[in-house]
Amino acid sequence: MEKVIIIRYAEIHLKGKNRGWFERVFVVNMEKSLKGLKHEIRRHSGRYLIENFEESETENILERLKKVFGIHSYSVALKVCADMDAIFKAAQAVCGMEGKFKVNTHRADKRFPLNSMQISAEIGGRLLDCNGNIKVDVHNPDFIIDIDLRENGTALVFNEFFKGAGGMPVGTSGKGMLLISGGIDSPVAGHMIAKRGMSIDCVHFHSYPYTNMQAREKVIELTKRLSSYTCGAKLNIVSVTHIQEEIHKKCNGDYMVTLLRRFMMRIAEKIAIDSGAQCLITGESLAQVASQTVEGMTSSNSVLKTLTVLRPLCGFDKDEIIERSRAIGTYETSIEPYEDCCTVFLPKHPVTRPKLSDVIAEEEKLDVNVLVDEALKTLETLIL
Ligand code: ATP
Ligand code: MG
Repeated sequence: MEKVIIIRYAEIHLKGKNRGWFERVFVVNMEKSLKGLKHEIRRHSGRYLIENFEESETENILERLKKVFGIHSYSVALKVCADMDAIFKAAQAVCGMEGKFKVNTHRADKRFPLNSMQISAEIGGRLLDCNGNIKVDVHNPDFIIDIDLRENGTALVFNEFFKGAGGMPVGTSGKGMLLISGGIDSPVAGHMIAKRGMSIDCVHFHSYPYTNMQAREKVIELTKRLSSYTCGAKLNIVSVTHIQEEIHKKCNGDYMVTLLRRFMMRIAEKIAIDSGAQCLITGESLAQVASQTVEGMTSSNSVLKTLTVLRPLCGFDKDEIIERSRAIGTYETSIEPYEDCCTVFLPKHPVTRPKLSDVIAEEEKLDVNVLVDEALKTLETLIL
């Protein structure tokens, strides 16, 4: 009896002609997530089997697979040869000690002498004979024993379905550049877009020495955590210290955040285009803070030349975002108390609904192109 893991995939089956490509990306992503662990991945009529792994690594493998987008559900199964005695032994091994149960059989191998109903009835009967504490209830069972007879003369026997991460395989929806701040929201935004199949690279802006090195370490840690879902990620780090000093010196301070956002967008767009990304992603949520108004977003968008901005959290409340942040494992790092550059030179009364003409008038006091080029010279790229 060999332990195997059955992987069922999510929406890939909807993708007509491109299905082969989606599946290849999916397998590559599973391989990456299981790197360093002995295993083999085989395709079996519309699903995958992970085989030949060390049984002691089963939990470790499952933990990693939980982060692979595209997996609809998975089951740990016993693989035996398709023979009623062997199937019965496997069914006994996965059968609960007490309660109501039913046996479900799926027979891909139509040459097998018994049909599905007969197999279920016989295995169910033999289980009943061995254990007086269980009884059959096909309508309202406490547990179900699944028997899957494959075409290759083997049978898979299992009793649990675990929900996978869902979504699409990362890499099948292009690449996005996530503006990652060190706060709670941006990693969640990146995770949501990665779930829809997008590869993610990140860009972080700092104001060293106004912000400290721990803030940088925190963003590196957050990117690493995010990269466990995205099959790796690059982190671009850029200094906006001089930009902020210039805004502080020359512009109406109330426009600090609005103007800084526009610089971030310009710089992020350039880095994104150079690295082949097709959009920017932010963790903004409508009305969450003063700068996250539709006018603020319009002001940020208006500096972009070709790329679009995805803001997947726009319709979420803070507590919903926190819940997701906890679930994906970024929350504890996000709440470490290091300052973001947006809190440097923070005005008492930031403009909340900036009029584009006023923003542009303030910005004209600055040498925008020179400041952008200068910031880009501080670019440092880490591969995580
Ligand atoms: P977060 O929790 O992601 O920090 P927030 O609620 O603190 O978000 P803001 O500080 O207004 O909101 O930032 C809004 C978005 O702008 C962030 O989600 C992020 O995408 C981007 N952003 C803010 N600061 C930075 C930064 N220092 N580097 C990169 N992106 C940033
Ligand atoms: Mg923030």
